[in-house]
Amino acid sequence: MKFDLDEEQSDIRDMARRFTEEQLTPYAERWDEQNYFPREVYTRMAELGLTGMTTPEEYGGSALSKLSGALVYEELARGDMATAVGLSVHNMVTGSIAHFGNEEQRIRWTPGLASGELLGAFSLSEAASGSDAASLQCRAERRDDHYILNGTKMWVTNGGEADIYLLMARTTQGRGSSGVSSFVVEKGTPGFNFGKTERKMGLHSSPTRELIFEDCTIPATQRLGEEGQGFKIALSSLDSGRVNIGAVAVGVAQAAFMVATRYAAEREQFGQTINTFQGVQFMLADMAIKIEAARLLVHEAAYKLDTGQSAGMYASMAKCFATDMAMEVTTNAVQVLGGAGYVRDYPVERYMRDIKVSQIFEGTNQIQRVVIARALLANLRQQG
Ligand SMILES: Cc1cc2nc3c(=O)[nH]c(=O)nc-3n(C[C@H](O)[C@H](O)[C@H](O)COP(=O)(O)OP(=O)(O)OC[C@H]3O[C@@H](n4cnc5c(N)ncnc54)[C@H](O)[C@@H]3O)c2cc1C
Repeated sequence: MKFDLDEEQSDIRDMARRFTEEQLTPYAERWDEQNYFPREVYTRMAELGLTGMTTPEEYGGSALSKLSGALVYEELARGDMATAVGLSVHNMVTGSIAHFGNEEQRIRWTPGLASGELLGAFSLSEAASGSDAASLQCRAERRDDHYILNGTKMWVTNGGEADIYLLMARTTQGRGSSGVSSFVVEKGTPGFNFGKTERKMGLHSSPTRELIFEDCTIPATQRLGEEGQGFKIALSSLDSGRVNIGAVAVGVAQAAFMVATRYAAEREQFGQTINTFQGVQFMLADMAIKIEAARLLVHEAAYKLDTGQSAGMYASMAKCFATDMAMEVTTNAVQVLGGAGYVRDYPVERYMRDIKVSQIFEGTNQIQRVVIARALLANLRQQG
């Protein structure tokens, strides 16, 4: 077993680190304060191949491994979690179209998405169906060679800014997952409008918006996969999405840890720097231990996805552990800075506000534990 990155992986990580230091870190505070979505950054990320990370090269993508992707998301999140999350959603959508789309659909959408000209969004959740996502009620009714969409979706990251929406809607009556199908809907389609933009605790530069469909007619050729396959498509992209969010959490925690470590080396109380107090040293040591453990779990889950192994449980473990860890680490980083941690002179209060949502989206951490427990019980049953 090797723990070192190979040359290509190190190069990708260093490239993402340089990009973050130059293009994200200096601006993240202002974007947060002004609720500004930096669309122009996606054009720059596209130049580095980051908007096509999940797209095969024949469609203009860079087809990075999940492990290389995790390295990129960790680095981006050190500068701006909102950008890392927006990019992860975009790549999730692009990857789903590249994987589940037919040739015509791939040719139509993936080159534009991979080149960053088009931005993607993923729409599964609704007001009444969050954790119980399979009970969604947005309808897609078949009429000859068209579908007519009616309903409201919620919580859409990149909502309003994105050009391409991967939409899960119900094609048969009822509440189960087998009646859900997946569609690609373009911004500007008549009958497709945007509702309210959420006012959030953190992640201010990532728009989260409601989608409204009122007799929105789309050609049947915009259905992705077969009727009834939509929930499977949604879940398949969630596994890599969860690994990405785990990596994002490691990045935010690492950034918070660095600020806390530097501050503790400079701040003096009782005539000595606070990093000489064992109470502070132990907080820093615990942060370092947990960040490293989470990073290894994220890399293991990514490796399992890359090598085609059963990865669902590991993706959930990585997401759950890394995001719980990052919540703890960012909270303790604020603590190490004392009053200075609670004000906007330092970025740790933003890290703490931003990271909270990572325990909620891509499946709450309670749902991750449900997934893990189910997999453990199934393994037990198989062993007899
Ligand atoms: C900023 C942000 C961005 C988002 N982006 C997207 C996006 O791009 N696309 C998208 O489709 N969705 C998105 N979401 C939605 C997100 O995935 C949901 O919020 C999440 O799945 C939880 O659903 P809910 O909010 O309805 O909570 P609920 O499902 O109502 O859960 C409420 C509480 O009950 C707990 N709970 C529920 N069921 C169980 C159970 N079986 N066992 C134990 N506990 C349980 C939950 O863990 C939680 O603590 C986003 C959400 C936010 C906040």
